[in-house]
Amino acid sequence: MVNANRLSLLLSFTLLLPSLRLSLSTSPPQQEPDTPINRFQQYLRFNTAHPNPNYLAPVSFLTSLAQSLGLIIQTLEFIPNKPVLLITWQGSNPSLPSLLFNSHLDSVPAEPSKWTHPPFSATLTADGKIFARGAQDDKCIAIQYLEAIRNLKERNFVPTRTIHISYVPDEEIGGFDGADKFVKSKEFKDLNVGFVLDEGQASVNNEFRVFYADRSPWNLIIKAKGAPGHGSRMFDNGAMENLMKSVEVINRFRDSQSDVVKAGKAANSEVISVNPVFLKAGIPSPTGFVMNMQPSEAEAGFDLRLPPTADPNLMKKRIAEEWAPAIRNMTYEIIEKGPLRDYMGRPLMTATDDSNPWWSVFKQAIAAAGGKLAKPEILPSTTDARFMRELGIPVFGFSPMTDTPILLHDHNEFLKDAVFLKGIEVYEHIISGLSLFEEANSI
Ligand SMILES: [Zn+2]
Repeated sequence: MVNANRLSLLLSFTLLLPSLRLSLSTSPPQQEPDTPINRFQQYLRFNTAHPNPNYLAPVSFLTSLAQSLGLIIQTLEFIPNKPVLLITWQGSNPSLPSLLFNSHLDSVPAEPSKWTHPPFSATLTADGKIFARGAQDDKCIAIQYLEAIRNLKERNFVPTRTIHISYVPDEEIGGFDGADKFVKSKEFKDLNVGFVLDEGQASVNNEFRVFYADRSPWNLIIKAKGAPGHGSRMFDNGAMENLMKSVEVINRFRDSQSDVVKAGKAANSEVISVNPVFLKAGIPSPTGFVMNMQPSEAEAGFDLRLPPTADPNLMKKRIAEEWAPAIRNMTYEIIEKGPLRDYMGRPLMTATDDSNPWWSVFKQAIAAAGGKLAKPEILPSTTDARFMRELGIPVFGFSPMTDTPILLHDHNEFLKDAVFLKGIEVYEHIISGLSLFEEANSI
């Protein structure tokens, strides 16, 4: 449900806050420098970390930036206080499928004591590093999109295809109240989106990374049952013994996947990862566990990540027959945290060859910006991109950050000012290249 009126009231209230603060201050108000770096810093200073992200203030800030650029602004609210901000630059041929540039408003929490600069200070150091939670993930692209449009407008560029920018809540906690609701809405359908760019990750070398798929997480819980017995007896089919056998089998599978990576035959994100995350067994006693009794139940939890190239049915068969077989008194539960196939049953990935015309336009834009593109990758984790790929829309994950350590979700997350500014230039090429691309009108 969209409740734009109530939100705009809240927004106008939050817009008043900065001036209120300034008037209460004893020192004369300092004029913020009017630069892309400063706008990036201002955006980074909003604390949008979970569990209580402040969404209204950054939405109001982005709204005023978009207003200053003469863009069309819509605030959608599918869940109360979780706004989706949609900004539009109308193309000269709005009948063509549009382009969408997505980023998320929220971030993961930060532990201030572990940081050299407060995580929401956006401190710019003498060597050009801007420290802030969200500097890489993914507030950089949020501002770069708008700055690229600012520069293109200054050069009187007119897009052919319409360009949309979306700012969504809750990506870091699964996106179910954010991108998921947005892409399933009538408002999204009406945008007639043909191609999406969403967040990517930093590159430690001079090549830009691009992601054509996400891995999908499964939570697996296996449970074993068996006859209880005295700790001194050696009998078959105890719960612990059954569980340990499964753990051994799962470890062998884990090693096989790891060997493929170590042999250089696949990247980490191209294999199925499985990692134990909990073990639960034993009979508690006031001092720890009862030591002379074999328990009748035991369980273990695993984090699995499946690339879209994996066959989910084959994996389910393996779990049922080898990892938690009923013949060893085992049961299991799989919680699938995301889709592996799109609405047509196709693997959830975007083609990076000639079958996808957007791919060559994107590649050309990177080259025109003087950049090099690394071999396309599967993202080891999960982003909002999966919701759009599920609709059959091509999506690339891309954040233009070269020669940058990968610090998302880490302490002391930073981005260099020069890398941020170069990213704006890259998006100018991408936005202009993609928006002028008119062939294959149906896509
Ligand atoms: Zn992110």
